[in-house]
Amino acid sequence: MTAPPPFPPAGRPEGGRPRGLRTAYCGELRAGDAGREVSVCGWVARRREHGEHLAFLDLRDHTGVVQCVVDGAHDLRSEYVVRITGTVRSRPVDKTNESIATGEVEIGAQSVEVLSTAEPPPFGVDARGEADESVRLRYRYVDLRRDRMQANLRIRARVNAAIRRSMDRQGFAEIETPLLWTPTPEGAREFAIPSRLQPGSFYVLPQSPQIAKQLLMVSGFDRYYQIARCMRDEDLRADRQFEFTQLDLEASFVTQQDVWEMVADSVLEATREVTGEEPPAVVQMTWEEALERYGTDKPDLRFGMEIVSLDEAVRGSEFKAFAAPAVRAIRVPGQGSLGRGRLDALTERARLLGAAGLVWLRVVAAGGGLALESPVAKFLSAGEQAAIVSATGAGEGDLLLAVAGEAAPSCRVLGQLRLELGQPPVSERPYRFVWVTDFPLFEGLDADGNPVAAHHPFTMPHPEDLDRLESDPLSVRSQSYDLVLNGWELGSGSIRIHRADIQRRVFSVLGISEEEAESRFGFLLGAFRYGAPPHGGFAYGIDRFVAILAGEENIREVIAFPKTQSGADLMASSPRPLPARQLAELGISILEPPGRAPGGG
Ligand code: ASP
Repeated sequence: MTAPPPFPPAGRPEGGRPRGLRTAYCGELRAGDAGREVSVCGWVARRREHGEHLAFLDLRDHTGVVQCVVDGAHDLRSEYVVRITGTVRSRPVDKTNESIATGEVEIGAQSVEVLSTAEPPPFGVDARGEADESVRLRYRYVDLRRDRMQANLRIRARVNAAIRRSMDRQGFAEIETPLLWTPTPEGAREFAIPSRLQPGSFYVLPQSPQIAKQLLMVSGFDRYYQIARCMRDEDLRADRQFEFTQLDLEASFVTQQDVWEMVADSVLEATREVTGEEPPAVVQMTWEEALERYGTDKPDLRFGMEIVSLDEAVRGSEFKAFAAPAVRAIRVPGQGSLGRGRLDALTERARLLGAAGLVWLRVVAAGGGLALESPVAKFLSAGEQAAIVSATGAGEGDLLLAVAGEAAPSCRVLGQLRLELGQPPVSERPYRFVWVTDFPLFEGLDADGNPVAAHHPFTMPHPEDLDRLESDPLSVRSQSYDLVLNGWELGSGSIRIHRADIQRRVFSVLGISEEEAESRFGFLLGAFRYGAPPHGGFAYGIDRFVAILAGEENIREVIAFPKTQSGADLMASSPRPLPARQLAELGISILEPPGRAPGGG
């Protein structure tokens, strides 16, 4: 595996030749430009005095920095915005600076124009250490000047451009859908916007353009896409913001395979664009297989340590724990020398994750072959030990971890241990995309005993399972699928129900009455009465995708103006109270927040 470069080249916008006040960009001057008369504009990154009247300035624009030599008295401080006109010249050999791209040249300034002065910034733009995040967010416009943020947002722009290229090439039409909208079916808490013209009524911000894009299929657009903003009022985390961006698409008369290929084209195009390398092809795996082999529906395929079954190897074993319905194991390469302290901690961890216990086995050389060393080894015959070694493909020096119990929870525990022991950082290459397919249609039961839709209620059941919809709903698979990248779920989608009879049956199993369906989604169901093509689609999170490509753990680092963990925009001071006049116009009166005494401030 190769680690990604810390920041892929930012590049400047294609076709962005210098105009207006400047004839060159700071970061692009090279030895071959020596002798050119240029005007450059930018921010003063650094100033070093040299004698009484000579100063070296590093001038920064969006392409990089260049050194300017300024003669004469000028009051030029950090972050002043200036225009410098002068001659590019080669630096003496012993004065070149290899750490910057323009290190072989400098500009001998003939004129210096201050376009704007600046107060000292709240933190150094080129400081190596990180300022506190709340300060960075409060002064985001300064924070965004930093190389890291410039690179991240440019990666994002290039990802968006690559996605649009791919969509356009495949005949998708980009169509915007409303933000002031109505409840959508994703099931998260919604943001509501009061209506001034109809006091007491509210718009709902869409959790996705789901219904709108299905209506566009009914309208005959055939292939729709949108780089769409989606709003969900959920608790924020490293990979979640209230508002986020998805590539949202939908297509008519397609199979799942078609959707997978169309989406793959876009993610591979974007990955290629950012890395300059050909990523591995996207592979497929059923949900069941993902759980069996990786103990999760978000498998990280960059490393092995797959879960294997020891059922055959230990059948009839004297070791009582292995009489469980299932015995599963992972092989941790080269970790056979882990000490007892670590192994005890792993056992404790497995218990915390829900296992009854954890059996560890060291693979050691013995009598020309391999044997197992473990407190339980004495209960395992030589034949069983050999069968375990062969089932796991273990070699000398490896560690085996086994869990006995029901198959599904055992795999979940081992899947988690696998990640904790082997997972590289999320951004580490290669980028392994995988389609996880054949999800169950429902996941568990709600408090009223009704099945809960695993994706959304418009998801088409698997045709082979349709006759069990009412009799055994939890066994019904769906035509839905997730795209996973390096252990992160990027998005999900499905083939939709376009037939009223199937939709009615699914609503009924979900415990959604006809009246409720009519009131929530009536306009979609109504549209289906006027000729709905079979259709399906997908949406993936661009924030997460860009974060992975940029090597960032937190999506806030790839969003220009994100909210804090508590949902605040520290720069724009939102959310904020509204003046009484505005509330009155909206027909809103504010209840006392709980715990605050009436009249108290
Ligand atoms: N609307 C779905 C979501 O946002 C994606 C889809 O089914 O196309 O998760």
